[in-house]
Amino acid sequence: MKDKTILITGASSGIGWATAEAFSKQGARLILCGRRKEKLESLAHQLKTETLILTFDVRDRKAVFETLDKLPKDWVNIDVLINNAGNAHGLDPVQTANIEDWEAMIDGNVKGLMYVTKALLPGMIKSRKGHIINLGSIAGKEVYPNGSVYCSSKFAVDAFTQGLRIDLNKEGIKVGAIHPGLVQTEFSEVRFKGDRARAAKVYEGIQALSAQDVADAILYMAQTPDQVNVADLVLLPTRQANAYISNRES
Ligand code: NAP
Repeated sequence: MKDKTILITGASSGIGWATAEAFSKQGARLILCGRRKEKLESLAHQLKTETLILTFDVRDRKAVFETLDKLPKDWVNIDVLINNAGNAHGLDPVQTANIEDWEAMIDGNVKGLMYVTKALLPGMIKSRKGHIINLGSIAGKEVYPNGSVYCSSKFAVDAFTQGLRIDLNKEGIKVGAIHPGLVQTEFSEVRFKGDRARAAKVYEGIQALSAQDVADAILYMAQTPDQVNVADLVLLPTRQANAYISNRES
């Protein structure tokens, strides 16, 4: 990874933050993206390798293209794009769910990931190299109660990843996805709109994956030899059997 350029969306927290740390330890240069500039600055401050901070909302198509079309000359050759930005908003049945929550998930997790990918593809295709790693979820493999739209967004990430791999097959660009189960990050706090007590319950009685566990797996995907592509990796806590069955200590 030494001197490779890695762009990570959603680097201001959780999996994205831990992934930046893991790649930086291997000597990579990092483009750190997110909306919270102060968080990205504090991350950049503690990393030992070169960084570039980009603040934009992935849902804002204009901002995504304007920002990524104007990358400084030294940063245009992206070796690995890690499409990590995303969140769940709410946990409700379709009949009572909030439509703004749906839009945040579809616009961010699906359309945002597509915009970032589309904006960076011309550079990757031109240089005939690159690797795109998308953050799916176990929620993109199985649907769980009250998660219909978050699960829809992650099923879409899975489908987009598969389609992208087909479309880029002749271009020499690797495409894969990682699908974690329960990971302890700010994810549940965002899902429950800042309700920390409710968020904490999600992780009760089970040792969830840490953001670093997921980052280590992403690093593994990025470090495979040229002839190897990890196309699809499901990573679960040992106590989690699938999207809705976990063996919790009582
Ligand atoms: P997190 O700690 O809440 O981090 C989410 C990151 O995404 C933040 O850096 C946030 O940055 C960024 N983000 C969210 N919406 C954005 C937007 N509209 N524009 C730009 N950036 C945005 O959650 P996490 O667990 O690390 O989640 C990372 C990814 O893993 C997500 O795609 C999530 O769906 C997936 N995942 C999580 C779990 C889990 O259990 N935690 C399981 C499977 C998959 P700003 O707020 O600064 O913009």
